[in-house]
Amino acid sequence: MSIFTKIISGEIPSYKVAENDEFIAFLDINPNAKGHTLCVPKQEINKIFDMDKSLYTCLMEFSYDVAQAIEKAVPCKRVGVAVVGLEVPHVHVHLIPLQDMDDMRFQRKASLTPEEFEETAKQIAANL
Ligand code: AMP
Repeated sequence: MSIFTKIISGEIPSYKVAENDEFIAFLDINPNAKGHTLCVPKQEINKIFDMDKSLYTCLMEFSYDVAQAIEKAVPCKRVGVAVVGLEVPHVHVHLIPLQDMDDMRFQRKASLTPEEFEETAKQIAANL
């Protein structure tokens, strides 16, 4: 069972931003930048291009709405999108508020307090 399935079932906590029957969005716990969010299908699928095409399209539509909310809630030049999956083999779309190219490199990390995570998740959710 993936760590994201445990988040979906409520077994481990997350800073949740959005949820519907098929998808959930929560803050990345080791973010590239403040507001870095993961959009995840509830069905545990390893690789994004193994997804059923219609579920893939729905995940992208869900991610679109979350990205719009991030752009309103978090000061940034734009929202970057990445799919990697080398660490967690459960499909997830990274949405990353960008100031510069280093924010897309998954090397420079932002450190947030639990209160800052909580507040950021609330601000993004409030813009959905
Ligand atoms: P990757 O699989 O390479 O796309 O990276 C997985 C991402 O999931 C990384 O950015 C991690 O910081 C993030 N991550 C891992 N565990 C958790 C968790 N429990 N809550 C939120 N994000 C997580």
